[in-house]
Parts: sequence; C-alpha cells; structure tokens
Amino acid sequence: MNVQSNIQNLRKDIPPGVKLVCVSKFHPTESIMEAYNAGERIFGESRVQELIAKQPQLPDDIQWHFIGHLQTNKIKFIAPFVSLIHGVDSLKVLRTINTQAKKVDRTVSCLLQVHIADEKTKFGFSEEDLFELLSSDAFKQLTHVSVKGLMGMATFTDDMNQVRNEFKFLKNLFDKVKSEFFLDDENFSELSMGMSQDYQIAIEEGSTMIRIGTSIFGERDY
Ligand SMILES: *Cc1c(COP(=O)(O)O)cnc(C)c1O
Repeated sequence: MNVQSNIQNLRKDIPPGVKLVCVSKFHPTESIMEAYNAGERIFGESRVQELIAKQPQLPDDIQWHFIGHLQTNKIKFIAPFVSLIHGVDSLKVLRTINTQAKKVDRTVSCLLQVHIADEKTKFGFSEEDLFELLSSDAFKQLTHVSVKGLMGMATFTDDMNQVRNEFKFLKNLFDKVKSEFFLDDENFSELSMGMSQDYQIAIEEGSTMIRIGTSIFGERDY
C-alpha cells in the first residue's frame, strides 16, 4: 500500500474548499506518518482508546478528529486535545463535552450527526429532533461547545442514486439549519459527508469535509 501515491491521486479529485480527513483507525502510527509526510494534517479515529494511544506518539500539529460513536464516560480523555468531534448525536453527549471542555479551559468544536441512511444501525438526529435540540434552552446554555456544522453517513449500498439523494437531503437540511439558527455565526460552515466509496458524489452535493480511510491506507484488519 503506497500511502503517498494514494494521497496524491486522491488530492487530484478534491477541490480546494474541501477538507480531507485521513481516517487512520486500525492503521499503525507508521502509516499515519507516511500521510503526514505527504502533507496531511487532519486525521480521524473512531475509538477513544486507540486515539489516546496514538496521539502522544505523533507530531503536535496533527488535528485529531473523532469520527466514531462517542460514549459519555470517555469524553474526558479526548477533551484536552481533540480538534473536532463529528458524531455528536444527543444532548447528553453535548452536555458532557461542554463539562469536560470547561474543565480543561477549552471550547470543543462539534458536528451534529444526522441520520440520513436507510439503516437502523447508523446513529444520528432526525430532522425533527435536530430542530428541537437547537431551539432548546439547554442547547443555548452550552458555553464550551462550538457547533461547526452537520455530519452524515449514507446507506451502504451500490445504488449511487440513493446515496446521492441522502446527501442532497443532508445539504438541504444544512442550509435550513444555517438560516434558522446560525445565520450570523460563521463557525457553522462544515458539512462532513463522503467516504472512500462515495466521496465524489458527496463533493458534488456540497460536502466541505470528506472522511477517507480505505482509499488512503488500504483495507482495515479488524
Ligand atoms: C471508518 C469511517 C470512515 C472511513 O471509511 P472508508 O470507507 O474506509 O473511507 C469514514 N467515516 C466514518 C464515520 C468511519 O467510521
């Protein structure tokens, strides 16, 4: 697996406004350093234990994104250094992030995950729950959380039409949420959608941040 040439190929497909999150879960620090040496600085991990084991061994200027499902009891381990948490899917998680961020005197950036897939196994808010959350007093009281945008995962399917429609739905929702709740907040600007299988469609549909593992590092050994 040549990480450097994979990145060079991938970079040709990515317009300048779209950020690349290199998803390094299950891959060793050596592979991360190959991507780092090819110029990449944003890395995504989906398990807290793995992230906190890798982070101290790697350069300080890496921006670590947490992309997995986050358990509240583990938030304290990543709050001191995490640069963006993608998969926030409940008020309880937001509140815990807020508490832990306050303790270490940080404001932690988050994306709210929306359930767009036709699968029960993927986490995230429904449109209705998202509006309810954003309208609530509890949300307004979060002083140490900065909501930067939305995140979603399309259905795992070969039907690229379905995938495109799910991304369209999410982009539409992003625009609605932006105009109703974040019109004057320039922080709310990121739409995280697209993985190895579907990032080209995601970019066409308005993604600002793609999360790529396999196309950079190869298949994962679970
Ligand atoms: C693993 C993972 C990815 C990367 O998936 P690939 O298909 O390997 O590119 C992206 N997003 C999330 C949330 C993931 O868990």
